[in-house]
Amino acid sequence: MDLNPKQFLQSATIALQDIQLQTALDRATGTVTRNRDMAMGELPHAEALRQQARGARLRALADLPELLELLEKNLTAKGVHVLWAKDDAEANQHVIDICKAKNLKRGVKSKSMVTEETGLQQAFAENGIEMIETDLGEFIVQISGDHPSHIIMPVMHRTKEAVRDIFMEKLGMPYTDEPGDMTAYARKTLRRKYLEADFGMSGGNFLIAETGTIVIVTNEGNGRLSTGMPPVHIAMVGIEKVIPTWEDFITLVQLLARNGTGQRLTVYVNIFNGPTQGEGDGPKEMYLILVDNGRSNIYATEYAEALACIRCGACLNVCPVYQNVGGHSYGSVYPGPIGSVLTPLFKGKENASPLPFSAVFVARAR
Ligand code: SF4
Repeated sequence: MDLNPKQFLQSATIALQDIQLQTALDRATGTVTRNRDMAMGELPHAEALRQQARGARLRALADLPELLELLEKNLTAKGVHVLWAKDDAEANQHVIDICKAKNLKRGVKSKSMVTEETGLQQAFAENGIEMIETDLGEFIVQISGDHPSHIIMPVMHRTKEAVRDIFMEKLGMPYTDEPGDMTAYARKTLRRKYLEADFGMSGGNFLIAETGTIVIVTNEGNGRLSTGMPPVHIAMVGIEKVIPTWEDFITLVQLLARNGTGQRLTVYVNIFNGPTQGEGDGPKEMYLILVDNGRSNIYATEYAEALACIRCGACLNVCPVYQNVGGHSYGSVYPGPIGSVLTPLFKGKENASPLPFSAVFVARAR
């Protein structure tokens, strides 16, 4: 399936008739929105925290060039190789060059939207490198030849019955209707891959300039295994993810978890401060690829605030358009309301013209 934002109307019309999709969206968006409301509702100062977070992101964007320089300096001092990529092709080429130079053939990857954006899996396939997605949702997407349909819940478009059928067909799993059994089966398959991997990859939820630190938040532990077990860790992150201080991180991480999944905090917060310094475990080499890919162009326009997004996914869950047609209809890596802003900015208005008008199209198609 190719992603094409210009086909939004056709894709949305089909999605509205798809019973399996409608069931999956109804279950998932309802649950995650209720959980989010509860998690935010228990904060006596929720609005103040939101304003504090907005201020933190806007301050970071205002100082973006200086913060990136500071981040590079601090990471380099810790032995991290920092590489810059002006576009998706250069970002992917950096990874492929590292793999070729180090003879890395098999990798494991934690969830990363920017690697979806650059089409990294395609680059691996073209260069004969095996890369296993280890986030459960991304793993399901990969083995079924699919695309993620949500920023943080890649298989929101699948019911558990559909996932069961995929595991039975692709992994040989015996019949079960228990999500716990399905997860255990996938975990058994993935464990071996961590042990065999030459390198691990991750994205980055935050880049903290003052100490030169990369942070990822996950709920499955796969991020820690993907980055901690193989001898080489490559992180690919958009340049807008840099923030100045740990104080800002504390503000932002609270809202990311509460808005994203309705948790007070994700199960894992992984903090990377460079390669191992002789501790015995952890990667011996570490790379950070900082991806621009159109962000500098947005930065210079009236739409710069779109770069403040921390990819929590909450605007997708509450959006009537997303709730009705799901993520694939947008034909873009970033779906939902924020995708309708980012995709025309990244790809050009002429290549994503229906997205800002998606609500009108869906109202017409219903
Ligand atoms: S724009 Fe959407 S995904 Fe981004 S931070 Fe806001 S609610 Fe979250």
